[in-house]
Amino acid sequence: MRPIQMVDLKEQYRHIKDEVDAAIHGVLDSAVFIGGKPVQDFCDHLAAYTGSRHVIPCANGTDALQIAMMALGLQPGDEVITPSFTYIATTEVIALLKLKPVFVEVDPRTFCIDPVSVEKAITPRTKAIVPVHLYGQSAAMEQILDIARRHGLYVIEDNAQAIGATYTFSSGEKVKTGTMGTIGTTSFFPSKNLGCYGDGGAIFTQDDQLAERMRMIANHGQSVRYYHDIVGCNSRLDALQAAILDVKLKRLDDYNAARRQVAAAYGDAFAGHAQITTPVIEPGNTHVFHQYTIILEGVDRDGLQQYLADRSIPSMIYYPVPAHRQKMFTDQGAGGEDLPVTDWLTKRVISLPVHTEMDQGHIEHITRNVIDFIQKN
Ligand SMILES: *Cc1c(COP(=O)(O)O)cnc(C)c1O
Repeated sequence: MRPIQMVDLKEQYRHIKDEVDAAIHGVLDSAVFIGGKPVQDFCDHLAAYTGSRHVIPCANGTDALQIAMMALGLQPGDEVITPSFTYIATTEVIALLKLKPVFVEVDPRTFCIDPVSVEKAITPRTKAIVPVHLYGQSAAMEQILDIARRHGLYVIEDNAQAIGATYTFSSGEKVKTGTMGTIGTTSFFPSKNLGCYGDGGAIFTQDDQLAERMRMIANHGQSVRYYHDIVGCNSRLDALQAAILDVKLKRLDDYNAARRQVAAAYGDAFAGHAQITTPVIEPGNTHVFHQYTIILEGVDRDGLQQYLADRSIPSMIYYPVPAHRQKMFTDQGAGGEDLPVTDWLTKRVISLPVHTEMDQGHIEHITRNVIDFIQKN
């Protein structure tokens, strides 16, 4: 059996090596490393795939969030509502731009921002909501968009973990995550569902003016070379990464389907074990299982992790400290909200390996050992 990893990029590459190598060599031969056709082609293909009017490439998913917030013209002290239960990047850029992160709860069933908690946190200074499609499933976007509309707020979807996932509105309209808010952002970090071989990111919007502004911000605030109209930054997706991503984008639906199959097999194996709560998929959602995360009740989580590690099974805690308890915020007088659901989840979640190269043997080895530990302890 191949060793079990949280993600197996080596094995994935082996299957697409010829095409990826040719794409890389094409860029090397052209000697155009920044911008150029591969970046344009990939953005066009990603726009078509997601149904987004604009796709703006950038250097990583954190920059994507930063550029999005810069483009909206938010002012220091403006409040931005974000889940505490997320990767730090979502919340860090808010503070970086001198905005005030206001941390709210997630729905413990979906791990995504809780609309009730959002509504309660709104003040006259609130300017934006940042739902995160955590672990690969859409947040409750109909409710979030409704709240935003009623209060005149921007919505920035952090889609770093859910590219390719879909959401269905009550009207029956089905859309890709990242395309519903004012702006959507994503990351092409290697382990993401659509990952490159370095860093990369993208921004989505349907708004022509915002798109233009974000393109400028990502390029030193210029639209005409050497004429800088607004303060921007330098954030680019390079041609090598774009060429690699274009090869993988064609396989994204298959990759996501493979992840769903792993999740379904886990779900079958864990069914009926009262101490394990398996992921809930909301009706109308297509989950892309960036992570397969279960909730443990009455289980020694550290003990389980060690037991699995001793049997060559990796596992991870995403994330061991929620944002509202991170020193970077509490030292600044932010955070410290009372978020019992977030704290409760933080102590109980564990993520098991899920990737595109897992086979039945891997899954059986993992589920058998998880269940053995729970039954013995
Ligand atoms: C990975 C990730 C990011 C940041 O992406 P980078 O490319 O690493 O900067 C932001 N938000 C979430 C939820 C992520 O998982």
